Parts: sequence; C-alpha cells; structure tokens
Amino acid sequence: MVGTGNYVSAVVFKPVSNRVLVFDACLDFMSKTSEHPFLKGITDKLDRPVRDLRISVTDRCNFRCTYCMPAEMFGERYEFLPRPDILTFEEIERLARLFAQAGVSKLRITGGEPLVRANLPELVGKLSKIDGIDDIALTTNGYLLAKNAQALKDAGLNRLTISLDSIDEDIFKKMSGQPQGPANTLEGIQVATELGFSPIKINVVVQRSVNDHTLVDTARYFKGTGAIVRFIEFMDVGTKNSWELSQVVTSKEVIEIISEEFALEPVDPNYSGEVASRYRYVDGEGEIGVISSVSEPFCGNCTRARLSTDGKLVTCLFASGGTDFKTAMRDGAADDEIAGMIARVWTGRDDRYSELRSKGPEFQAGTAGDKVEMYYIGG
Ligand code: SAM
Ligand code: SF4
Ligand code: SF4
Repeated sequence: MVGTGNYVSAVVFKPVSNRVLVFDACLDFMSKTSEHPFLKGITDKLDRPVRDLRISVTDRCNFRCTYCMPAEMFGERYEFLPRPDILTFEEIERLARLFAQAGVSKLRITGGEPLVRANLPELVGKLSKIDGIDDIALTTNGYLLAKNAQALKDAGLNRLTISLDSIDEDIFKKMSGQPQGPANTLEGIQVATELGFSPIKINVVVQRSVNDHTLVDTARYFKGTGAIVRFIEFMDVGTKNSWELSQVVTSKEVIEIISEEFALEPVDPNYSGEVASRYRYVDGEGEIGVISSVSEPFCGNCTRARLSTDGKLVTCLFASGGTDFKTAMRDGAADDEIAGMIARVWTGRDDRYSELRSKGPEFQAGTAGDKVEMYYIGG
C-alpha cells in the first residue's frame, strides 16, 4: 500500500535535445514524490474521515486548573518533557502537511498552554501556508494573549477559543489554581476582539458546587459582545482530576439555569458534526453553546486526530497511548513511510469511548485506568 520510493524508475528521461520536455518530466516527478494518493479519503473502521488535527505544542502551563493539572500533582518537582523530546516546528509542519493530504482542513493549536511555547506565531505562519489547510485555531487560557494576539493574527491565525471558567474573581483563582483573577484573560479577549477575531469562543468547564452558581454572571458578561460562551461538561479525561459523575452538570441543566435569567431558543448547527449545541438569546444579543461530551456523546461524528507534544498520534481523547511519529521522523523515515503510518493508524481506528462510557463501566475495560492526560494531547 505504501509507496516504496520506486518513482525514480518510473521517470523516463527524454533526449537532451528536448530540454523543455525533460524539465516538465522532472517537475512532474518532484510533485509526485510529495503526494501520497493512498491518503486521500481515508476513513476509520466506523467510516469517519479525518478532518481536524489538534496539536499540543507544549505539556507545560502557567495555570494549574484543578480539573486538568491540579497543583498538588503538578508541583515544582513534576517532570515535564525534556526539550529534545518536544516536536520542532519543522516536524509539526511536516506532519500537518501529510495530514492535509489525508483530508485534514482544520488545525487547532493547543497544549498545555500554547502561548508559553516560544515563537508560536512562527509555527502558525508555517501551518498557514500548507495546501488544503483553511482554518487554524488556537485554544488558550488567554493569560499571555494580549501581547501575542497581533503577531498571531499577522501569521495567519483564523480563530481563537479562550478558556475562562468564571467571571468571579475568587472562583477563577480557585479553578485556575493560580493567584491572579481573570483580568489578564479578559484583556486578551478585548485585544483579540479589537483585532477582528470573530467569533471568539469562551470555554467554561462546569463543575457542580464549584462554578455552577456563576454561570449566569459569566453568560451576562459576554452577552451582546459577539463572543460565544460554550459550557462544557466536566469530563473524565486523564487520571489526575478525581472525576466523579456527580460533579458533572449536564448541558440540559446548564440550559435550564441560563434560561431562568435569559430566554433562549435552539439554533441549527453551523455544519454537520458540530460539537457544541447552539442556543440564541431571544432578544438577539448573541448565542451560547453547550458541549455534552458526557451526557450526549458525539463519537459518531468524531473526525479529530491529536498530536501529542512528543509526536504521538492519539485517535481519542480517552486513549491509553498513541503511535510514535517523532522517532520515525528522527530515524529518517521518508514522507511516504510517514504517510503510510498515518493511513494505518487512521484506518485501524475504532474509538468511541464516550459512547461506551454511557453504556456503563463494563464497556470501558482497558482504557479507564491509564488514559493519557489532556495537557499532553491537547483539549
Ligand atoms: N491551556 C489551554 C486552555 O486551557 O485553553 C489549552 C489546553 S486545555 C487542555 C483545552 C481545553 O480543555 C480548555 O478549554 C479546558 O478548559 C478543557 N479541559 C481541560 N480539562 C477538562 C476536563 N476535565 N473536562 C472538560 N474540559 C476540560
Ligand atoms: Fe493549563 Fe489549559 Fe489545563 Fe488549565 S486547562 S491547566 S490552562 S492546560
Ligand atoms: Fe472522539 Fe474519543 Fe471523544 Fe468519542 S470519546 S468523541 S471518539 S475523542
């Protein structure tokens, strides 16, 4: 299935007198070596194409959100990946280019906190030049956004998702596990809005008895600003956030809570497979979204692949591991070998963890105990 480098023997060189034809043949040869037709239209075992690639550019973060990297576990002694183990921008670009041939048109840069990685706009610039990529988004906690937003925009970033779990000063500090309130994140949102990023999405992870009493205030803050607040059910990702079902506030409950203050009506999805369910304010002042990853799993439409900070391809947020592309690339694998690895991983994929979770614990054997962490594969 995988190309074997036999292209050279397929090129027939013409007599030197016909220089133009020789040149054409060489160009043809060069373009064929960088295309991998067997990647086109690949689907997994459940017939899902690969459309989105989420790239975790760092496993480090300047926050210690209690549901993601709780401070008691990610203290000063915690060993993050050593620098040489982190994919370079060139390696990320190379993989993204091959994924684009497999059908990926959207890239999301995430982490960890992507803005703690030096020179991030340089990566955005490289990715924005890839044929077939028409959308590059960034998920960030926004703390460093104000000073980076212009460079990111100039480099070709199209969309921003900013996480902000509560507009309340104390709840924000508590959930983000660090001493600052939301001011820096709000400033980042303001700067990004002025630069024309639109619509900005605001991610709010909802945890029972933690921030559920501030949902209306957070919604009110952004109502009428053009930003779309998306309330996310607290998920059992990773193994370090002591997840319990009782802490999940379902999307249905969230809609009931917001509706008590503001009249809402459902809106059709922007496109088939959209992760968030949309609701608009009846008074015309914008919309909100809810992401029901726990109560209404959407595995059937899951077209997302994830690239970990150290180059492992992970095909589900709840997987226990991934396929190592970094070692293959550093051992000198040619593009057609890497493309073959992508095809093998994706066509062998049958993940649907959230659907199985909803059927009961007995269906989750093999994954529940040793899931990869979210900061490592990106949210
Ligand atoms: N540091 C960036 C940020 O917080 O936006 C990007 C990485 S973060 C892992 C990506 C998204 O995952 C954030 O919106 C975060 O709130 C969300 N997230 C992390 N842990 C989660 C969990 N257990 N359940 C639901 N969402 C979670
Ligand atoms: Fe950092 Fe984002 Fe995880 Fe919070 S959710 S600890 S900001 S990676
Ligand atoms: Fe996709 Fe896995 Fe989440 Fe299902 S559980 S939607 S397959 S990432």
